[in-house]
Amino acid sequence: MTGLTAHELRVLRLVALGHTHEQIAEQLVMTRKGVTPTVNRVIRKLGARNAPHAVHLAHQAGILRRERHGDHAGYAAHLYRGETPCELCKAGERAYRNSRRNTRKEAA
Ligand SMILES: [Zn+2]
Repeated sequence: MTGLTAHELRVLRLVALGHTHEQIAEQLVMTRKGVTPTVNRVIRKLGARNAPHAVHLAHQAGILRRERHGDHAGYAAHLYRGETPCELCKAGERAYRNSRRNTRKEAA
């Protein structure tokens, strides 16, 4: 057991997704200044050397699940979790919709 709070886990997930501290603050409705100490606390609790190392250890320990990102399924999974899809998934969803539109055009 790592003793991460639900909030710390949410922050770590967003760090793993490559969000900046500013984006994390925005998504979790916290101040930009509050993000850094939270990330540092997560790093300390996991016994990591830095944020990427914390992400790595969290994956290894099964604290963070591997999630699908960057396509239609990843986009849908964000919505299912009640989240705003990340930029990678937004781009994947756009590509998916464009390809669907083109398929329909060709069929018509
Ligand atoms: Zn995503």
